[in-house]
Amino acid sequence: MKTKPPWGRLLWRGIRKRCPNCGAGHVYETWFRMLDRCPQCGLKFERDPGFFVGAYLINFAISIVLLFLLCMGFVAWKATHAEAGAAVPLVIGVVIGVLAPPFFYPFARTVWSAIDLGMTPLEAAELAAAAEHRHC
Ligand SMILES: [Zn+2]
Repeated sequence: MKTKPPWGRLLWRGIRKRCPNCGAGHVYETWFRMLDRCPQCGLKFERDPGFFVGAYLINFAISIVLLFLLCMGFVAWKATHAEAGAAVPLVIGVVIGVLAPPFFYPFARTVWSAIDLGMTPLEAAELAAAAEHRHC
């Protein structure tokens, strides 16, 4: 038996750093250290070895989009202010490049978990294993 919440709910839970399966919070011990299983429903977050490579891609894409928006903003600003220098946008770009990946990392992991759960609903064996670790 396969089961999964609807896509919108999955992604909304992932964006808020919650378990995509049940919506429970506190799935991180620290900012960077995710629990192995959801404390409420028992979902194992790393479903396969290398599972979170997709999260790295999401995290990378977020940073690239932010840097792209910065570049487009600078181009628009430069179009109306020809004398504008590039120092401030460069500093902002470095700050984004350094701070955005660690900030968005936990969100990228839960969003990736949500996307994976949407594409590959839990199998019977995963549901059984989750039930063994369920706390309510
Ligand atoms: Zn859960």
